Amino acid sequence: MAYKILDSCVACGTCAGECPVGAISEGDIYSIDPEKCIDCGTCAGVCPTGSIEEA
Ligand code: SF4
Repeated sequence: MAYKILDSCVACGTCAGECPVGAISEGDIYSIDPEKCIDCGTCAGVCPTGSIEEA
């Protein structure tokens, strides 16, 4: 289980700076590497558009 970023992402970058394991990478929208994610939920808590949810 890992978190995922939805299409409603506006690529603000807030989550990437908060992830403790560096699992979030930049793109047209941001994405989470499921191999690195430890399911802490930090990113979901800081996303201003509510675009991160448990996969
Ligand atoms: Fe990173 Fe935690 Fe979000 Fe996984 S749930 S991508 S470890 S901040």
